[in-house]
Amino acid sequence: MSKPVVAIVGRPNVGKSTLFNVLAGGRISIVQDTPGVTRDRIYADVTWLDRTFTMIDTGGIEPDSSDLILAQMREQAQIAIDTADVIIFITDVRQGLVDADAKVADMLRRSHKPVILVVNKVDSFQKYMMDVYEFYNLGIGEPFAISAANRQGLGDMLDEVVKHFPEDSTDGEDDDIPKIAIVGKPNVGKSSLVNKLLGEDRVIVSDIAGTTRDAVDTKVTWEGRDYVFIDTAGLRRKKNIKEEIERYSVIRTVTAVERADVVVVMIDASEGVTEQDAKIAGVAHENGKGVIIAVNKWDAIVKDDKTIYKHTNKIREVLSFMPYAEIVFISAKTGLRISRLFETLDAVIENQNMRIQTGVLNEILSEAVAMQQPPSDRGRRLKIFYMTQVAVKPPTFVIFVNDKELMHFSYTRYIENKIRDAFDFGGTPLKFIVRERG
Ligand code: GDP
Ligand code: GDP
Repeated sequence: MSKPVVAIVGRPNVGKSTLFNVLAGGRISIVQDTPGVTRDRIYADVTWLDRTFTMIDTGGIEPDSSDLILAQMREQAQIAIDTADVIIFITDVRQGLVDADAKVADMLRRSHKPVILVVNKVDSFQKYMMDVYEFYNLGIGEPFAISAANRQGLGDMLDEVVKHFPEDSTDGEDDDIPKIAIVGKPNVGKSSLVNKLLGEDRVIVSDIAGTTRDAVDTKVTWEGRDYVFIDTAGLRRKKNIKEEIERYSVIRTVTAVERADVVVVMIDASEGVTEQDAKIAGVAHENGKGVIIAVNKWDAIVKDDKTIYKHTNKIREVLSFMPYAEIVFISAKTGLRISRLFETLDAVIENQNMRIQTGVLNEILSEAVAMQQPPSDRGRRLKIFYMTQVAVKPPTFVIFVNDKELMHFSYTRYIENKIRDAFDFGGTPLKFIVRERG
């Protein structure tokens, strides 16, 4: 079950980043070998009352004229509507109600998304109570008075946010259909691929009715099998310049990846793989998703018999944290190897769901241990008792040992490689949990 997404929307200086930082606290996940993704505080996981959700801050650059402010707020609100389960609309009691607030409130109300109206900077409730009531005029419900800076009122606000999360079971039968996200830098060809898919004779497209978020997804049937492509609305919609801003593409990436089973990371062949591609791919890696690197615009480059080899090497080098990623060379424009992309999707989905029996795993384990002795520290040697697979998507293994401290990262990597030698886990990360046997 994917985590609910909560987006924070509001004018500049109302306190969006303050609220975001207070809620995120120390909980911004940092995964060691993934480059740069999480250092930028655009999104973070927050836990409240045993529900964990992904919070995104849609704010960013500060425009200097009020026209631009409104345009940007609309943009933020649209992204929130497209991607979030619940929207926190934040206003400022000291600036009072302004015209832009009313316009954005209209837009949010029309979306029928749950919107929590928050009035910030209410550092003293007595002093500002009358001013808070004014915000009822926005017509989006009861305002929650908070002081982000003083951490007041946040509990009530979060209670309300959590109330609007979709029930875990509402996804129903669609849960069986693999969900695919197409992500990548601006201009790599994501929209072109979606449009190509929608235009292909072999593809049957249907809209999904039901929960609010489905409107942004597209169901595609290819050679008898169903796939849901996630967050295609933003790709199909005529593009706005502002959407090209990196922050927005990161938000789209994070929220789409969150809900996906397999992520297609698009790279532009004419540019080659870049650090920005690595950041985007890192989001999928951190979330344990299946990954396919689609090198697009393959039609547009000059090739010889070594071109594929060179591209592959460079990708393996820049994306060294995900050696398991599958790579396909495609053209969204001509349709080159689109069927290969679907075959790879099928394989990755299968690998993400593969279960290995404990007996077989332990044969591999004892062979691995025999070939390379486990590490030791100050005379104490790591003992591995046994291992078992506890989950799929991604395949997750628990290794029982005598002493966790002795289980060095490189030895886990060694065992992972042995498992990968024995089974085709192409396209999926594997997760390992080391436990001491009690
Ligand atoms: P953003 O542009 O919406 O992200 O707003 P910021 O979070 O950067 O906050 C804008 C200003 O408002 C900063 O100077 C904050 O210190 C201040 N601020 C944020 N929350 C509060 C609050 O609860 N009370 C007061 N008095 N100031 C706040
Ligand atoms: P997005 O921003 O990732 O959605 O990228 P677009 O789909 O808008 O594509 C950006 C540009 O690249 C457009 O001018 C497309 O026509 C072009 N483009 C996309 N895919 C291909 C391709 O496979 N080959 C070539 N030659 N151009 C492509």
